[in-house]
Amino acid sequence: VLFRSIKGVNDILPDVIGLWQKVESSARKVFSLYGYEEIRTPIFEQTELFARSIGQTSDIVKKEMYSFTDKKGRAVTLRPEATAPVIRSYIENKEHFRKAITKLYYLGPMFRYERPQKGRSRQFHQIGVEVVGGYSPYTDAEVIEVGYQFFKNIGLGDIVIEINSVGCPECRPRYSKALKTYLEDKIGTFCEDCQDRYQKNILRILDCKVKEDILQLNDAPVVTDHVCEECSEHYKTVQNALNILKVPFTINQKMVRGLDYYTKTVFEIKHGSLGALDAVAAGGRYDNLIHELGGEKKGAVGFAVGMERIILALTERLETGIDTYNLDAYLVSLGDESFKQNFILQDRLRKAGLRIDISYDAKSIKAQMKQADLSKARYTLIRGDNELADNVITVRDMKSGDEKKIKVDDIESWFARNSQRISAVET
Ligand code: ATP
Ligand code: MG
Repeated sequence: VLFRSIKGVNDILPDVIGLWQKVESSARKVFSLYGYEEIRTPIFEQTELFARSIGQTSDIVKKEMYSFTDKKGRAVTLRPEATAPVIRSYIENKEHFRKAITKLYYLGPMFRYERPQKGRSRQFHQIGVEVVGGYSPYTDAEVIEVGYQFFKNIGLGDIVIEINSVGCPECRPRYSKALKTYLEDKIGTFCEDCQDRYQKNILRILDCKVKEDILQLNDAPVVTDHVCEECSEHYKTVQNALNILKVPFTINQKMVRGLDYYTKTVFEIKHGSLGALDAVAAGGRYDNLIHELGGEKKGAVGFAVGMERIILALTERLETGIDTYNLDAYLVSLGDESFKQNFILQDRLRKAGLRIDISYDAKSIKAQMKQADLSKARYTLIRGDNELADNVITVRDMKSGDEKKIKVDDIESWFARNSQRISAVET
């Protein structure tokens, strides 16, 4: 039998892993500047945790969860997102989270049973942050800012940030009522899902992806015309703070997000290179989730970034010019003595912190140059009889093709001066 990976569940191969690592290390670097610490929660949790938090009428809970019962008959689910797990852990481990504000970030795989396509898979990866403990609108701005800085850091500063307010349990019913009135004589022509949403969770209609439905929503009332004084003030302060931080944003009055737990601020980050699936990140404030999951009354705000879509956007960018190298140099040997000397040199250079590889079954120079290319080496170091006699080595720039001889003793200092290391893995 020929085994294949499961549909929608993909390998991430060494070819592209450098990019993943670069994105992950950017996240760690940027988030730590703002005082965030990493948390790792389990891959699976009680099904009830997700059903309660994300909401019974959400797409995720209705049709996308990988749920099963274990040998003792417990209902468990592979995590479709990490906010609920992080909050579950925050409540469960409260003696470890004693600061007024806890700032956490996570990265790892999530699981949703969806139709696989470009930028959408069944196992996918998210990087996210959660700020737990407060209600300040300045935190919302900080969370959006940290996301913006992350995107700038990885070279995707040309994102669009859309924000909206979805109000709170105080004022949202007023809006639901207005929307219900508007849709009363139209809902019959909407898709089946929307008809169901109309009964159970009317706001979710705004999230519908059916074109005809979207058209009919053009003149629908918007949440921000119906929010209470407190939500309105909150929203204004978030916008002011974003202006102070010079974070560019636009307002999208129709955005409600697909998860039930959001209150007040919601936002999405989009990147133009991705067509219809242009959302690379999404998040918002959720002031009632902690209490609903059995914790104290505390506010929180966070977002999650979709790794696969970032990698797609970055790959497009790469085709327009950024190189990543997996090695600083590949050693090419011509003959036994050359190989022996290179074997010693390889050890010396690695211990000096350079990324080095060698051909162990040295064949022709041409074959070795090909291996250097496949290894994504920035330079090759070539040693033939002449070089051996003179105690030098030929350095070939794999990008320009330029060659020059340098003293074997000087290789480390030459690299320190010359190599513009576009490192795949930041050290
Ligand atoms: P979409 O509308 O694209 O289904 P969503 O609203 O379900 O997105 P969120 O739950 O907010 O997405 O997750 C945040 C981000 O995670 C998304 O913006 C997207 O980049 C990414 N994401 C969500 N589902 C998938 C998936 N199945 N495959 C790859 N990335 C995903
Ligand atoms: Mg989705």
